[in-house]
Amino acid sequence: MEETLDTNDWNYLQVVGSEIVKDMIVHMEQIRTKSVWQQPSQSVIDFFDKPLPTKPTPLNEVYSDVKTQIIPYTSGNNHPRFWGWVMGNGTPVGMLAEMIAAGLNVNMVGGFQSGSLVEKQVLNWLKELMGYSNESSGVLVSGASMANFIGLSVALNSKANFDIGKEGLQNSKDKFCFYASKETHNSIEKAIKLLGIGTDYLRLIDVNEKFEIDTAKLLSDIHQDKIDGLIPCCIVGNAGTVNTGAIDNLKALAEISEAENIWFHVDGAIAAVLMMNENLKSKLDGIAKADSIAFDLHKWAHIQYEAGCCIIKNSRKHSDTFSIDSDYLEITKRGFSGGDDWFCDYTIELSRGFKALKVWMAFRESGIEKIGRLMEQNIVQAKYLESLLEKESNIELLAPTNLNIVCFRVNVPEVDETALNIINEEIVLRIQEGGKFLSSYTRINGKYSIRVCITNHRSKSEDLFEFVSEVKKIAKQLFSEKNFQF
Ligand SMILES: *Cc1c(COP(=O)(O)O)cnc(C)c1O
Repeated sequence: MEETLDTNDWNYLQVVGSEIVKDMIVHMEQIRTKSVWQQPSQSVIDFFDKPLPTKPTPLNEVYSDVKTQIIPYTSGNNHPRFWGWVMGNGTPVGMLAEMIAAGLNVNMVGGFQSGSLVEKQVLNWLKELMGYSNESSGVLVSGASMANFIGLSVALNSKANFDIGKEGLQNSKDKFCFYASKETHNSIEKAIKLLGIGTDYLRLIDVNEKFEIDTAKLLSDIHQDKIDGLIPCCIVGNAGTVNTGAIDNLKALAEISEAENIWFHVDGAIAAVLMMNENLKSKLDGIAKADSIAFDLHKWAHIQYEAGCCIIKNSRKHSDTFSIDSDYLEITKRGFSGGDDWFCDYTIELSRGFKALKVWMAFRESGIEKIGRLMEQNIVQAKYLESLLEKESNIELLAPTNLNIVCFRVNVPEVDETALNIINEEIVLRIQEGGKFLSSYTRINGKYSIRVCITNHRSKSEDLFEFVSEVKKIAKQLFSEKNFQF
């Protein structure tokens, strides 16, 4: 008997499969009625401490464990009251697209096949969105961390005046410097480490009171590095910083890059997608002048995880950085390999999933204007939350709300900074453990901050109203607890 991993009862698979699809649609429909987040219990933790399965388990049993042990304890970011970090909610159509992509199980290496056509079209849409021409290049990746890595790799490779792919940095006397504001996401630092640049050569520039890069300070650092014989290689501009949602003056950064002959990369993980909204896109003035743009679709555009993108204005520099000739991947005149270039020439990965399908289906189904309107809705909601907090005498806003992120803390007279940090951290933990809301935290100028980031197409203003009541309730409890030591 020869074996296969297929079922020998396709009718039964249809029954279970239909049940799974129905269950997931109901789960999404009823998400508001669930806890935002529930800590996995000890029995759940123990459940995942079992040895490698060597023998089969019936599908219905496996699925039953999914329902009891996995679904109730996931990260919660689909919930209308989840405002932690920067997370998207996904969409119903994205969920179905993922199932189709899994069914087709396309490997998006490249090739002359519909999957390549879909991804290339999606990339062209995204280039158009950012003001790039179709001659520029791009690739869908897991997220902005990978996209930043790609952008910075191409920056380094194109600014080196020797064959860096061959020689590496081993023999180089050239010291390449990268510039970004102090508010920059750590994926930039990670890329700097992994590229062999060394974080000593990442200049973290001061910000102004709106947490945007201080361009005068940037210029003076660049000039000093030139005087010191170093090579300014790349400026990273932020389109939405992770702490406060600040957008650097991209136009000014583009001008500096041009004048100083430096690569200009934009980390637009959060807010580059504001280009989908005609009223908001002016916040990103200058983005089209960037040499490379990294951004996420799984955050504010709500495409299912994972979906990020890097686009590079000069496609040759992009492929020069990533392509390696190999006999087994040669492009042919006809047949499967008869298309043009392959995605593996633009990224680290060879085998890749069919991420493009969910983007393609979701964009078509809702139209990008609607996704853009929902971002504006979140910005209005963040302003509303800010206005509610402003009215509270014991709450202090820690940063201006320019976008969808609100940073604040409970502050009571005669409590010192150390105690305030402890109190506010405790408030965040109790919010999370309560299961009704989820916010995260950061530090703003050293002060522990409760941080609400509304990248959520399911949130309503009343959710924010109730959140403020909850914060006040927890703070009150905390102050009345005799055993709680500040
Ligand atoms: C989230 C984020 C990243 C990293 O993106 P991933 O999709 O999580 O890899 C980079 N920069 C900023 C500003 C972010 O908010």
